[in-house]
Amino acid sequence: MVIDCHGHYTSEPSALLDYRKLQVAALNDPSRTPGELRVSDDEIREKLEPAQLAFQRERGTDIAIFSPRASAMGHHVGDAATSVTWSRICNDMIHRVCNLYPRNFIGVCQLPQSPGVRPDNCIPELERCINELGFVGCNLNPDPSGGYWKEPPLSDRWWYPLYEKMVELDAPAMVHVTATCNPAFHTTGSHYLNADTTAFMQFLTSDLFKDFPSLKFVIPHGGGAVPFHWGRYRGMAQDMKRPPLKELLLNNVYFDTCVYHQPGIDLLAKVIPADNILFASEMVGAVKGIDPETGHYFDDTKRYIDGVSSLSAEDKRKIFEGNALKVYPRLSKQISRQAGARRA
Ligand SMILES: [Zn+2]
Repeated sequence: MVIDCHGHYTSEPSALLDYRKLQVAALNDPSRTPGELRVSDDEIREKLEPAQLAFQRERGTDIAIFSPRASAMGHHVGDAATSVTWSRICNDMIHRVCNLYPRNFIGVCQLPQSPGVRPDNCIPELERCINELGFVGCNLNPDPSGGYWKEPPLSDRWWYPLYEKMVELDAPAMVHVTATCNPAFHTTGSHYLNADTTAFMQFLTSDLFKDFPSLKFVIPHGGGAVPFHWGRYRGMAQDMKRPPLKELLLNNVYFDTCVYHQPGIDLLAKVIPADNILFASEMVGAVKGIDPETGHYFDDTKRYIDGVSSLSAEDKRKIFEGNALKVYPRLSKQISRQAGARRA
């Protein structure tokens, strides 16, 4: 089985996008408050079939861990109530996708974060998504301010109530920012990769995983700059009299394979232990085109893993399947449950 641990619902029906436009407009003009969202199953199918589903078939991937479009989470827009409403709607859409295509998608939720608001406010939505919708994890935004980094670091006790709930529910998080409203950053080109790198350094300098030995994070986009600078991080940990990185972080921190060229994946596979790499493509997402140097889609990352000569067949099996089942403890049961749902 090939499990893609990083997929977003980027082929949403236009009604969902229209809803959000009105929701944002209503912040200044309450007369524009959107009514109930109406989307038919056929509208969902029409957009999803030629996009994520077609690519899954073409590329030979089986199932995607699927969450709402990350750049649209927009935690910095409006207030906490705005974020709660929008998160519930987006998570419900993911749930519908998982019901329509139970063998192709497993849900992960968007959290209703809001700048300056304690992350405890995300607990009810996390519980709803895990307990009622059958989701297996969440996306956690380390910077709900959208590029101004006003929240305490992920190692701060500010986040602990949410972590306690994640541990209780066996729900790991992918560290994932949303669009930036800071013009110095490009959302997917710099803000995403900055955040991946920043989160790793926050973990490195903290004792978070002493307090939460079973808490698990996936750092997406290959870990930002981390694998490339692994020597710097190892050396800094040593200078700070911290334990070796393997001991300090690698029971809790994992990296995905959303790196869009062979040399980048080769480096990732060489530097990061195979036990800490999860297959992912983030399709259809940040980079949509075909690489003229290879003739293949940049985000067709399965080809790169297949092409890494330094990995054994057993390592590749871990990257494609085993590690995802380990990091997301609810995944195995949920895959069986959803496969059964279709047969019923
Ligand atoms: Zn993403």
